Amino acid sequence: MTGRLRALTIVLATVVASQAWASDRGIHAVRYVMGTWCDLVIFDPDPAPDVVQSAFREIARLDDVLSSWNPESEVSRLNASAGRGPQPVSVDLANVAEESAALCTLTGGAFDPSVASLLRAWGFYTESPGLPAPAIGRDAASHVGCNRVTVRRDPRTIALADGAALDFGAIGKGYAVDRALAMLRARGVTRAKIDFGSSSLGYLGDIDGGWPVVISDPRDRDNPLFTLRITGGAVSTSSQRERSFERDGRRFGHIFDPRLGRPVESSLMSVTVIAPRGSTADSLSTALFVMGAAQGKRVINGMPGVGAVFVEQRANDLLITTAGKLSRLTRLSK
Ligand code: AMP
Ligand code: MG
Repeated sequence: MTGRLRALTIVLATVVASQAWASDRGIHAVRYVMGTWCDLVIFDPDPAPDVVQSAFREIARLDDVLSSWNPESEVSRLNASAGRGPQPVSVDLANVAEESAALCTLTGGAFDPSVASLLRAWGFYTESPGLPAPAIGRDAASHVGCNRVTVRRDPRTIALADGAALDFGAIGKGYAVDRALAMLRARGVTRAKIDFGSSSLGYLGDIDGGWPVVISDPRDRDNPLFTLRITGGAVSTSSQRERSFERDGRRFGHIFDPRLGRPVESSLMSVTVIAPRGSTADSLSTALFVMGAAQGKRVINGMPGVGAVFVEQRANDLLITTAGKLSRLTRLSK
């Protein structure tokens, strides 16, 4: 997105920021938060009047903890303290860092929030990413690794090795979905949906036949391929198309293979993960995008309630494979 278009989007976002439509079927509200549009639907007939505001406030609060784009966020301040030993952190930052560290180990470093130094070197914190000079790319890669981050619980601290930095773009929205749904549940809401577009989506409660989850053609999001039905839980989709640039006929996107120190280039076009929690769905969809279908399937096979849909390009066709507990959780309809 160009700077101008982003500015326009933010102006529009401000205008409609607090839009909500009440009806006898509940409330539908949309807000620009965590750098994107977020849809909140409450299906209960008479939710408490300020419940929508509280849910969005919770998401905005977590953005102030987890955003790598905001230099004042808690994670940005932690990144600035790299090399200075253990730093006290909030419960939310510790939760997200701990879950990320576990997945980093489980995936042999395919999922690794210390990709932040690579994202910076490749310009993914600007509107115009591009290839770094080889020495800069190599230096950034040398600061990546599960062992560059130490999370402790008592006292609650995180220590970053000198030069290391964290980015929670792969898990933050899913974690925010979980926290906002927990808050809605605590306020008496029984059925709701929080939806950050296709990237992260979570449901509270159930409906007859299950909630519909549409798997779209990654080349054309308006073209649905099929629908899954899920009972509660969360859904997340990862793809390179969201943020990428082209150089010499090759496309480089925002999802990195930390083990190679460069963006993933593969025939995989999207990975959708269904999981009981938003943070699991979000982090795993990114992890499986890096690992690919064969390795990824091995990782999720032992995970209760987790399923995945891989969409790959094969010549002009799409190859769709599924993994995990999807068949038991869902019903596929064309
Ligand atoms: P998602 O859209 O959830 O797949 O997250 C993609 C975002 O996660 C990127 O924009 C980066 O901020 C971050 N990221 C990229 N590669 C990785 C990786 N291998 N492990 C963890 N986070 C990553
Ligand atoms: Mg993710």
